[in-house]
Amino acid sequence: MGNTQEFKTKEMRFFLSIFFLFFITNSFCQKNYWQQEVHYNIDVKLNDKDNSLSAFEKIVYINHSPDTLHFIWFHLWPNAYKNDRTAFSEQLLRNGSNDFYFSNEDARGYINQLDFKIDDSTIEVKQDSANIDIVMLILPKPLLPQDSVQITTPFHEKLPNNISRGGHVFQTYQATQWYPKPAVYDSKGWHPFPYLDQGEFYSEYGSFDVNITVPKNYIVAASGYLQNEDELAKLKTLGSQKPVLQANYIEFKNNLEAKAKLEKKTFEQLMPASSPQTKTLHYILDSVHDFAWFASKLFIVQYDTVQLSSHSVNAFSFYEPWQEDAWNKSVGYVKDAVKFYSKKIGEYPYGVVSAVEGNTDGYSDGMEYPTITLITGTSAGQDLDDVITHEVGHNWLYGILGTNERDHAWMDEGMNTFYEKEYCLEKYGSTLSDVGEFEGLPKNKLPEDQEKLMLESFIKINKSQPIEMTSDSFTEANYELVVYKKGSLWLQQLQQQLGNTLFDSCMHEYFEAWKFKHPYPEDFKNSIESTSHQSIDTLYNKLFQTTSLFAPQKKQLKLTALFNFKKTDKYNYISVLPAIGANAYDKIMVGLLIHNYQLPLNKFDFLIAPLYSTGVNTLNGVARLSYNIFSKRSWLEFSASGEKFTMNSTDQNVPINGNELYLGVRRIVPSVKIILYDKDLRSTRKWTIQARIFLLNEDQFVYSNDTLNPLVTKHAVNTNINQLKLGVINTRSVYPYDANLQIDQGKEFIRAGFTWKYFFNYGAGKDGLQARFFAGKFFYLVPNSIINQYDNARYDLNMTAPNGYQDYTYSDYFAGRNEFSGWESQQIMERDGFFKVGTPLLQQNAGASDNWLMALNLSGNIPHVVNPLNIFPFKIPLQLFVDIGTNAAAWQNDPATGKFLYDAGFQLSVLKKAITVYVPVFYSSVYSDYYKSVFANNRFWHTVSFSINLDVFKLNKINSEIPL
Ligand SMILES: [Zn+2]
Repeated sequence: MGNTQEFKTKEMRFFLSIFFLFFITNSFCQKNYWQQEVHYNIDVKLNDKDNSLSAFEKIVYINHSPDTLHFIWFHLWPNAYKNDRTAFSEQLLRNGSNDFYFSNEDARGYINQLDFKIDDSTIEVKQDSANIDIVMLILPKPLLPQDSVQITTPFHEKLPNNISRGGHVFQTYQATQWYPKPAVYDSKGWHPFPYLDQGEFYSEYGSFDVNITVPKNYIVAASGYLQNEDELAKLKTLGSQKPVLQANYIEFKNNLEAKAKLEKKTFEQLMPASSPQTKTLHYILDSVHDFAWFASKLFIVQYDTVQLSSHSVNAFSFYEPWQEDAWNKSVGYVKDAVKFYSKKIGEYPYGVVSAVEGNTDGYSDGMEYPTITLITGTSAGQDLDDVITHEVGHNWLYGILGTNERDHAWMDEGMNTFYEKEYCLEKYGSTLSDVGEFEGLPKNKLPEDQEKLMLESFIKINKSQPIEMTSDSFTEANYELVVYKKGSLWLQQLQQQLGNTLFDSCMHEYFEAWKFKHPYPEDFKNSIESTSHQSIDTLYNKLFQTTSLFAPQKKQLKLTALFNFKKTDKYNYISVLPAIGANAYDKIMVGLLIHNYQLPLNKFDFLIAPLYSTGVNTLNGVARLSYNIFSKRSWLEFSASGEKFTMNSTDQNVPINGNELYLGVRRIVPSVKIILYDKDLRSTRKWTIQARIFLLNEDQFVYSNDTLNPLVTKHAVNTNINQLKLGVINTRSVYPYDANLQIDQGKEFIRAGFTWKYFFNYGAGKDGLQARFFAGKFFYLVPNSIINQYDNARYDLNMTAPNGYQDYTYSDYFAGRNEFSGWESQQIMERDGFFKVGTPLLQQNAGASDNWLMALNLSGNIPHVVNPLNIFPFKIPLQLFVDIGTNAAAWQNDPATGKFLYDAGFQLSVLKKAITVYVPVFYSSVYSDYYKSVFANNRFWHTVSFSINLDVFKLNKINSEIPL
């Protein structure tokens, strides 16, 4: 068996030359086709004490191009993990992960000790100016067409924690993109590019001869044919020894409640010690463009063979003991995948295929390499079959059809996803719908194809991108939805255009014509057209467009209970669901919510929610209409909303005749809002401009002057507030910020407030210090008199965060808007000075100003290293806050309280930060004097305040992928 591959290789070369000749003579498009050739010899030794590789590499580079080469671009991709300024690190940040950016030296990786030589002389190496993982090797003498050059170099490599595709997790190793490698030179020129997480590979075809030295008790899974007969025999029989092996792991497994809970120390203690002896494993492989290997002391191995029409293939799967339940059928999945793709596209040309289960530092994915794939994560059953099949399928669409994945990702990912779905349909009768976005919703309301629904939703709001684009230009969501999903739907449309039989033979022809070569999109098009004798121009052009692949259908109106995501391309749903609300006056409100919100978003949206108030026995409610215009750079929304609810009542202390009196508010708010996006869709920054008019009709108490028969009645007052808001927000994963200017104009005043928020990350994750700065200025539009000051006191700039009464536009939710006692009275909102303490029962709240006011608020997690709460086994999200502020009066009258006011204490947020409770501990004497004089008992509880922020339940806050 050990020699099968040599036969295979010869056979392959024979077929290759046959096809080469065939296409030279028969195919116009390949008439001038050429490609470079690279042969690798690598000796590599794993040092599992410091997680490093020591290696020596010898490359023979053959120049088949018609050009004389003076240099060769080389990829040193392990250097992508060297610091936080690499293209890789920048991209992770842009995609919302700051783990690598804040990782320590220990978690990072690099390649060094390089000494590139030709003919035993060190050659000149020029560092690429932008990327530390790209270099240019200057050839001492020009490399003529059809000439070859031998290049050697030693290298040492520190493996990073596996945060992207390779590295190590404890003493398990994933050696991928691990050796110095020439960039591709083809008819379009050189293709040097940095390593990226989002964006794959493009490499020259050739051969590999690799010696891997590891401590003896490691099991290695690698690309290619293992030449050590004894080791190969051992791998083939490990499966039948599984029960024996498993017995060895019983103790290990018993200690594994959940692998994720393992502490590093525990894991290493449990891991068998590395044997002091080493072994060297020899692998060879021909007609491929990459080589990857994986090593673990704990691999369980399954082995079987797949019989294809021309040869037999050794199939292996490697996994760790805790994956036994999920992976016990894994080699079967590998076999089925090889059979399916061989039937659909073309026969698998190699004699070996493997799937390896591997650890990562948090992410979950599958990744393809020639003859071997790495599967990470915790999928099982059809899910695992799906991902193994996808990755094995890449042997065809990437491995054998060696497209430029970085520039034309759909050619491997889109096409491969199409075949993966076909495989699932054939084997299981259904494809799995990833319910990530819609988890927990009843099945009969879910979309048939969730990814398609998300794709169409992005297209509708003009946030989609063309299929044919370089990988790095996609937003993270579009990389998934456009490259994989739309790419696969595109191929499905080609299948529909040609019919199944013709489509299959076209794909076979494409495979035969382009295997072991570098086809470009136009080569694919030419191949399909020449086989089918049909033009695919119309469909091909859709690769460059952002529009839907599907013609819009005329939609029918349909009533549905709750909501519905099914067939939203056919129906405009009007959804009816029960609604509930509450406040201190209306008590519980029950009613209906009727709306037409759906995905893809409508241009015209409405919602109406009549609510019956059980407290006041009246009909309240909310209604909203909006019309939206989505364009690439902006989202323009015209809207009007209306609300009616109760916001105050007489209490026992107020003498009234007859029934208790309730005050209501009616509010109508016309608005025009435009959100402006950066030209680059990947940008996390956006601008908002909004103009609103708050048309308020508020009830007020009227007290009679009759002291014998005191009567309280009410009357309604109209107030208009005009508001202009300008804002910029950047939700980037480090140092996100948010700034806005809000100008409110009433009958007698203008009030301008500028708020700036900036978040200082402490490290990876979401811990950090939030800084908020507020500066406000108040102007009277009437002569500044005592009367006018009194009349407009409600609109003053506040040091203390406003209560419900001061929320004069009724923009925030308040449980008890006008309460002066009870827990409801302790609610505040984030605005102005945002102090957590106040003097609400005084005529003028301390710090309030009708001139100017400034405040700085700091809040943040207690840094992990000094946090005493770390002794608890669960995370307590306790934060500290400090507020400091001043206003105009403090600088004019030299008040006894001093120029600055302050407070500080603890805050705790719950329900995704919807509710935050503040416990002030230190504060200015004006506040402590107030608490002492007003509250005889329970003084501490009167200082506690809380805020409610319902914005966190907005769609785009719940799911950040919704790009609003
Ligand atoms: Zn893929």
